[in-house]
Amino acid sequence: MLKLIIFGPPSAGKGTQAQRLSKKYGIPQIATGDLLREAVVRQTPLGMKIKSYLDTGRLGPDDLIVQLISERVAEPDCSEGYILDGFPRTMGQARELERMTEVDLVLNIVVEFEELVGRAVGRRICPQCAAVFNVKSNPPRVDGRCDRCESPLTQRDDDREDTVRNRLKVYMDQTAPLIEHFRTKGNLVDIDGSAGIDGVFDQMVRAIDGLSGQTQAETH
Ligand SMILES: [Zn+2]
Repeated sequence: MLKLIIFGPPSAGKGTQAQRLSKKYGIPQIATGDLLREAVVRQTPLGMKIKSYLDTGRLGPDDLIVQLISERVAEPDCSEGYILDGFPRTMGQARELERMTEVDLVLNIVVEFEELVGRAVGRRICPQCAAVFNVKSNPPRVDGRCDRCESPLTQRDDDREDTVRNRLKVYMDQTAPLIEHFRTKGNLVDIDGSAGIDGVFDQMVRAIDGLSGQTQAETH
């Protein structure tokens, strides 16, 4: 059984890492956002309740989200464990989760906010063929033109500096207390998010494998 939580600011590559971990350890990635949308689409009783909250622009109370998660982790594909992505999001949810189960490890991707702002602000996309460039790390051959189809590149509204900074601030305000909570409990590991996709993945694998080594040492 391997129960993980992944924390990381928006655009830090949390989803990509969760997918890779899911493949390597054979446990599902449970993304709260997807779960919410799915419950609404399937029109389950819980889904109908959630829909009424989503319709009013609210996320729904903690107990509703927790119920959704507890139903999901009771499914057969979670028998070997799971990766929680986007949950818990509040201290209330964290406490509910602890009543339900103990997670083994919290992986906390740490990236300098200025680096994330830089990455997002430099991103340019081709509205024609969806190619992605970055003026700093992956510039197009001709300034402002797509390498593939030569269309003029654009910047997404989501990547504008004020939008990015606001998203990061919301993340910090929301997650900082949770990070401190798990750090105090002693099952949180900081992951250096500037190490590139493979480097970040390697650190996570080391932290997870160190965990099972620890358990083995204790039992033998
Ligand atoms: Zn293009």
